[in-house]
Amino acid sequence: MMRIIDILKEKKTTLSFEVFPPKTSAGMETVTKATEEIAKLHPDFMSVTYGAGGGTSDYTVDIAKNLQDSLGVPMLAHLTCVSSTKEDVKKLISLYQKKGIENIMALRGDIPEGGRLAHDYDHATELIGDIRSQGDFCLGGACYPEGHPEADNRREDLIFLKQKVDMGLDFLTTQMFFNNDMFYNFLYRARDIGIHVPIIAGIMPITNAKQIKRSIALSGAELPERFRAIIDRFGSDDAAMKQAGIIYATEQIVDLLAHDVNNIHVYSMNKPDVAEGIQRALSNIL
Ligand code: FAD
Repeated sequence: MMRIIDILKEKKTTLSFEVFPPKTSAGMETVTKATEEIAKLHPDFMSVTYGAGGGTSDYTVDIAKNLQDSLGVPMLAHLTCVSSTKEDVKKLISLYQKKGIENIMALRGDIPEGGRLAHDYDHATELIGDIRSQGDFCLGGACYPEGHPEADNRREDLIFLKQKVDMGLDFLTTQMFFNNDMFYNFLYRARDIGIHVPIIAGIMPITNAKQIKRSIALSGAELPERFRAIIDRFGSDDAAMKQAGIIYATEQIVDLLAHDVNNIHVYSMNKPDVAEGIQRALSNIL
């Protein structure tokens, strides 16, 4: 069973991990080793991100294919469109098909600081239409419990999200959040507006102080006081921060499961020890 929507329907709970490709071929060996270690934990599926600039697209599909073929883990390959032409996207979809990738995360991508390389796509919705017309894939999309940083307001963001789902998404995965109440509130509003696909909760274990600034700046996620205190106390001690980050993420997951949010995606960032730490802490729960 390789289609993620089938896995989500079939299993009571799911735990999945996200990895990212190297920037250049020099990093391929290290990344392959780390991602294989994570795959050996046998998560329900894994996802591989896609560099918005377009340069690393081959690595995304190569890593996904390797883990799927060698370790039997169902793979979700990301695809962004903001800097691609229609022609680029068509070729990539064919490549994914050829390599046996059945699941695609259809994303717009962040608008690059130096300007976009192409202007064929404005929103993920257009990409979803193109993928759907070219092949039979299981498709995921991104959603933002605290609103997308570019959105004027959350209500409008949710209306666009509903349009995106209606274009043919099978499931959604959320941006990271550190306060579960944000997620519960979002889930209520999403269901209320008529979004009924599974919504996978995306959890980012913050395991070093540097990562916090980057992640928060990118996502705009609220950092609860309780978490700030952890950073203040342990942020300068790498080993302590890693342990505290894993515990915080695990507690978030326990609370989500207790509230019947049964699909959890961990932004494990090519860190096998972090993925393993979370999985082990949940071994009698998941
Ligand atoms: P969209 O759904 O297109 O939304 C983008 C913005 O446009 C939103 O503000 C939305 O409200 C607005 N909008 C949508 N439709 C319309 C419309 N018709 N008219 C006006 N406004 C509209 N980035 C990467 O580069 N590589 C990755 O692998 C990657 N993986 C990700 C995985 C997840 C789970 C998440 C949450 C994000 C990921 N990102 C990734 C980041 C993502 O590319 C950015 O957040 C990007 O800015 C938005 O992408 P999107 O697909 O959500 O865009």
